[in-house]
Amino acid sequence: MSYKNFPMVPRIIFGRGSFNQLNDILAPKRLSIHAPFIYLVDDVFKNNSWLTSRIQLSYEDKIIFISSKEEPKTSQVDTLVEDIILLTKERPSGIIGIGGGTLLDLAKAVSIMLTNEGEAKDYQGWDLVKNEGIYHVGIPTISGTGAEVSRTTVLTGPDKKLGINSDFTPFDQVILDSELTKDVPTDQWFFTGMDCYIHCIESLDGTYLNAFSQSYGDMALDLCKEIFLNDTLTDIEAQEKLMMASWHGGMSIVYSQVGVAHAMSYGLSYLLGTKHGIGNCIVFDHLEEFYPEGVKLFKEMKAKHDIELPAGICANLSDEEFNIMIDISLSLEPLWENALGKNWKKTITHEKLRSLYQKM
Ligand code: NAD
Ligand code: ZN
Repeated sequence: MSYKNFPMVPRIIFGRGSFNQLNDILAPKRLSIHAPFIYLVDDVFKNNSWLTSRIQLSYEDKIIFISSKEEPKTSQVDTLVEDIILLTKERPSGIIGIGGGTLLDLAKAVSIMLTNEGEAKDYQGWDLVKNEGIYHVGIPTISGTGAEVSRTTVLTGPDKKLGINSDFTPFDQVILDSELTKDVPTDQWFFTGMDCYIHCIESLDGTYLNAFSQSYGDMALDLCKEIFLNDTLTDIEAQEKLMMASWHGGMSIVYSQVGVAHAMSYGLSYLLGTKHGIGNCIVFDHLEEFYPEGVKLFKEMKAKHDIELPAGICANLSDEEFNIMIDISLSLEPLWENALGKNWKKTITHEKLRSLYQKM
């Protein structure tokens, strides 16, 4: 048996207000006055001086505001990389992603594509990246995806939605400052938070589970229950705990995999552009037969926070559209195998997926 040897985020700061230390953290990493730091920042912060005034721009440093309305695309990464090459005299000293999973994934992908030839779509898959990326820093402003700790950057390409999974993908530095999450709207807080909850359920109920994954998954799951079902936490405690749940949920997947909800929500996202957090919720709501306990608790949390999920999103799809979605979902073999074991193809047929999607 040969075990995988995973890289991890080598440096992390945790603490309320730790974002103030960003400039001190970056200063020693500056390669030259012509090698700028490029900040990729969610455009929800565009007019938010509380956050942006604390980013100290020196020499040729730049902030690029990016909308997270749509999930990251390989073509978007290629364009950003081209823009950065045109904008800078030397290779940047670092790429800093500030935002949710969308911005964190963009920062990881841009860092890799600045040092690897070709297009981002060429690297979707496992261990295709040849060269180490540029120094990159992740600063989440919403908690749940685990993108701050994971070894992947999930991108939608011309023919698939798949991550660039590589040893060079994880951040070199992460800053976990829960204060940055204080203005997240409730619905979005729930959807992205549930991404973490679903990571836990899929990892803990999966066939790939080992003690490493289980210990992180158990911790994250307990935190999620405390945050989403308990009234005793202060806002600050809840924000800090969700940040750690996201981290542990991400760690839980290092050695395991996600499962049915993710496999199906990738289909929705590819065809309809449904975003990850809400897409997972829409799917998970219908997965009692796979995760009875997990779905029961999910419904309790949904009711407690008055969350309405969209219904009938697949109602008017053509056969061809169903087929595209089903093919994308079926192509995610490791997810199905983790969820249901090596013989998953016996139960997960084209017809079975169609009947599930039709409920959504
Ligand atoms: P997101 O990054 O798209 O952000 C969701 C919304 O929240 C956006 O409208 C954003 O503007 C807003 N927002 C973020 N921070 C805010 C703040 N502090 N105040 C107010 N609004 C704020 O959503 P997400 O759920 O964090 O990430 C989803 C993405 O993450 C998907 O593209 C998915 O594929 C990816 N993902 C990646 C991994 C990984 O391991 N790399 C894991 C899971 C999901
Ligand atoms: Zn997820």
